[in-house]
Amino acid sequence: MHIPKEQKMYCTKCGTHTSHKLKQFKPGKARTMAWGTRQNLRKHKKGYGGKAEFTATVKKQTKKPTFIAECLVCGRKCYKVIPKRMKKTELVSAT
Ligand SMILES: [Zn+2]
Repeated sequence: MHIPKEQKMYCTKCGTHTSHKLKQFKPGKARTMAWGTRQNLRKHKKGYGGKAEFTATVKKQTKKPTFIAECLVCGRKCYKVIPKRMKKTELVSAT
């Protein structure tokens, strides 16, 4: 799906609709010593096996596209998630 690079969205800081620039969101690396990571490791990898709850056997084939929108007036950033699963997305500059 083609998504315009620049969109008019509501900015919470400006209080009006302003043009935003979209950027692809990439999740960062998980911290190895964070509490959640250690808990997940304890649940799934430690001990004598057995089946832990909520272990996905089949991975999902698609992802909900997530972008970071930056206000061009004040520079505030916010997430923009398209609530639909799709295989491919492309940011296209509006002509
Ligand atoms: Zn703004």
